[in-house]
Amino acid sequence: MRLIISEKANAAKKVAQFLAEGSVKEGKHRSVPHHTFTWKGEECVSVGLKGHVLNPEYPEEYSNWQKVEPSKLIDAEILKSVSEKGVAEAIRSLSRKADRVVIATDYDREGELIGVEALSLAFEANPKLMDHVERARFSALTPGEVNRAFDNLLEVSRELADAGEARQDIDLIWGATLTRWVSRATKRYGSAFLSVGRVQSPTLVLIAERERERRAFVAEPYWELDATLKNGGGPFAVRHARGRFKAEAEARKAYENLTDSARVTEVRQKAATRPPPTPFNTTGFLTAAASLGIGPSRAARIAEDLYTDGYISYPRTDNTVYPRSLDLREVLGNLKRVEGVGPYAEKLRASKKLSPTRGKKETTDHPPIYPTGYASRKALREDRWKIYQLVVRRFLATLSGPARTLRTTLRFDSGGEPLTTSGTVVTEEGWLGVYPYSRRQDEELPALNEGDEVEVVGAEVVGKETQPPGRYGQGRLIRLMEDLGLGTKATRPNIIQNLYDRGYVHDDPIVPTETGIAVAQALKDFASEIATHEMTADLEKSMDAISEGKVSKENVVDESRDVLRRVYENLSESEEKFADIVWNGIRGDETLGPCPNCGKNLIVRRNRRSGKRFVGCEGYPECRVTYPLPQRGDIIPLGTQCDACGSPEIKVLGKKRPWVTCINMDCPKKQEQRQSADGNEGDQPSREGAHELEKSTT
Ligand SMILES: [Zn+2]
Ligand SMILES: [Zn+2]
Repeated sequence: MRLIISEKANAAKKVAQFLAEGSVKEGKHRSVPHHTFTWKGEECVSVGLKGHVLNPEYPEEYSNWQKVEPSKLIDAEILKSVSEKGVAEAIRSLSRKADRVVIATDYDREGELIGVEALSLAFEANPKLMDHVERARFSALTPGEVNRAFDNLLEVSRELADAGEARQDIDLIWGATLTRWVSRATKRYGSAFLSVGRVQSPTLVLIAERERERRAFVAEPYWELDATLKNGGGPFAVRHARGRFKAEAEARKAYENLTDSARVTEVRQKAATRPPPTPFNTTGFLTAAASLGIGPSRAARIAEDLYTDGYISYPRTDNTVYPRSLDLREVLGNLKRVEGVGPYAEKLRASKKLSPTRGKKETTDHPPIYPTGYASRKALREDRWKIYQLVVRRFLATLSGPARTLRTTLRFDSGGEPLTTSGTVVTEEGWLGVYPYSRRQDEELPALNEGDEVEVVGAEVVGKETQPPGRYGQGRLIRLMEDLGLGTKATRPNIIQNLYDRGYVHDDPIVPTETGIAVAQALKDFASEIATHEMTADLEKSMDAISEGKVSKENVVDESRDVLRRVYENLSESEEKFADIVWNGIRGDETLGPCPNCGKNLIVRRNRRSGKRFVGCEGYPECRVTYPLPQRGDIIPLGTQCDACGSPEIKVLGKKRPWVTCINMDCPKKQEQRQSADGNEGDQPSREGAHELEKSTT
């Protein structure tokens, strides 16, 4: 019997369906399903994993954070423990009956490693399998792709798996050692621990640096002179051609000069072409999804689902050039019934020549992301449907013609002052007709000719300020990480999610907490290797070298250990300074605002006995003001005061969506909030913490 191992349960089922000659027999080993069928006259059993079946970890004796010196983890042995017991048992049991095995996991570093892990279990159960291993390599769960892959079985790449394993080991060594060191230095244990990571920390530094720039930014005032003009048609807005006036008096002077009519002095038109977008690779896709309001980690998960359900091709790819082997007309044929775009796809398919756009990166592992099958809105729903639509529409856009636009600029003179406005309209839709996401609204201007006179119906001087650099949105951060070589297409979404989960950042665009800023600063000061992107980008290069067989995994991991030892020494010498910086940040996050009673700071405190948190005044015991707090979710001080009662406002990052509230339970606004927060009962503030404090102190 030939055992076929896929990465996920639904992939295993699809592989069986696509290969089976005749019927598929469903079976189960405990709760793990498998599928028996005949392929090329041979009995096959297809079974799915749940991603990684082994997990790297330190031996039991290293598990106590407070007793084990963190530096011991640098050279400690790394064990691989079984993380999915049921799946592992099923693999062992099926392997005993098998005489050959085919690895059909995702084709990339991570997938190869997952396959090699499964093989280690298979060999354990049946050593004879060692000489009978094959690899199926495909980029889409479609009948054509899967059959082609099984007709051309290859070898498992130990090098590729080694690269994946090197990353796993290095991440564990750096992450565990430094996370424990930082948690110990700052005495943050349990769920409050402060994490440090090889990719996570440089990413946090990027976010914190941007915040620092924003805080250092000194806004400069400027003035603009806006006017409203009117011809036969409706009114339209123009601005003084100088744009920004540095002095208000100058803007006022220009304002005074305006008369009640303006003459057209120039009409300029410029046609432009907007070429269609390039095919989606992972970063392009995640960025586009983020602009639809679907964050990277969620978008990546949805894409993964759509792939295993056979709707889109493999979503982890750097490639932005469709391979010649991809039958574009066949893909278009699959889309003819897709809601909203069917006729468009049909029209493209009927055209004589298809000329897809090409991006800058061309790789051979996977094609760019494209739709592999038909899906209905009913079958997918909501965000899954949005993502599917995005992939479908992007694919169609890459095969479409350019869009053409016309930009009109009008200049006027009123009392010697130049006024101007411009607007762009789409004159030929091209790809924008099927890919509306990046389409801006047409800005129609009145049809005017040089010398025409129009009426000035209003004007005003508007005071404004220059703006600090904007915060990173999740999509923009993903792109920046790619540019800097931080993380991989597979890991970036999770890294960003971890920053949220650890309370280092909140919101989108991303805002770092004081703790996040402080940890970034302390790492920059005392462990610059892990705060900058150079080292981690070098490591990514080493991993490519491993997968190409140029260096050994052991070599790369050992070199990384040497670097970590140096980093650790530096840190140990500055433990107190490091802790001071971080504690300052933590205190910043716990300082909510001025006490209405005495003006000192209100601070998040914990009841010594119950551990429950509440708000107390820094002026205690002279000032006894307290407020209850919700017991769950991170609390972010907003630095603002409630407009109804004047007490400080906080944001609570609950399990569901974050909510903003003032800390005063008796606030008149609370009644409304309680009604809208239905089902959130567990998150409601409890007075218990505050009361217990009073009991224990009086
Ligand atoms: Zn007070
Ligand atoms: Zn209030």
